[in-house]
Amino acid sequence: MSDYGKRLLSKGMSGADVEELQIRLAGFRGTLPDGEFGPGTELQVTKFQADVMKQSSPSGEADSLTLKAIDEFADRFPIDFSRLKCRCGKCEGFGRGNFKGKYLGNQKVEAFHLYEYPGIHRMLLWAVRAAHFYMPEHRFTFSSGYRCSVDNQQHHRNTTNHCGKAVDLDIKLERGENKQDDLIKCRVVRGKLVELSNAQIGWTAKNRKSLEPDNVAPTWVHYDVRSYEPKYLADRYFCTDLAALNARVPISF
Ligand SMILES: [Zn+2]
Ligand SMILES: [Zn+2]
Repeated sequence: MSDYGKRLLSKGMSGADVEELQIRLAGFRGTLPDGEFGPGTELQVTKFQADVMKQSSPSGEADSLTLKAIDEFADRFPIDFSRLKCRCGKCEGFGRGNFKGKYLGNQKVEAFHLYEYPGIHRMLLWAVRAAHFYMPEHRFTFSSGYRCSVDNQQHHRNTTNHCGKAVDLDIKLERGENKQDDLIKCRVVRGKLVELSNAQIGWTAKNRKSLEPDNVAPTWVHYDVRSYEPKYLADRYFCTDLAALNARVPISF
């Protein structure tokens, strides 16, 4: 992250600045935040240049114009963190960092990890921005963000994805629309996120953003990063406010 904004990024390069680029473009096809600029990252940049910057012959190289356009994109789609905060009334909004390495039951898998991650995963929120961008016909709101262990207790839940790895998006219905319309809208949105953001429905593939299938989440869109390997769920990926999400630095090349 430290060097982001200081050089043009293109295929074959690697580093923390490449990782930062991959995070910011998570909703444009999206790959891993592995810091290696390969064909997947090139596709991310190309899609961003074609779709957001409206370039007719995108280069796939993240030049200064592209990095500035990414900052502008962030400003166009700010994230309302007050909607994401935990509502338990006990924590400050993003848990208390409890239960790292502790699991529900005997299975040491991320789905049962009880850890209260220190905020919400940045890739997920940048990906939500792309959902806003690609689907201006829908008005999205967050219906659920962070839910810490206390909140889970209060609601008798034993799922832990919302401890920083998931958000739920609700789509505002127009006057006269009913639950069936909502179901259809959510289904269409999931399809778009698979197509445009490289998400998957379910959790089978690792290191892919996941959507709950419609039999689990019929009238909302649950989006999560639970299938990421532990190294991509390190504390540094999580944020608790807009400044940390945006991590704005001067573009100086
Ligand atoms: Zn809480
Ligand atoms: Zn959810």
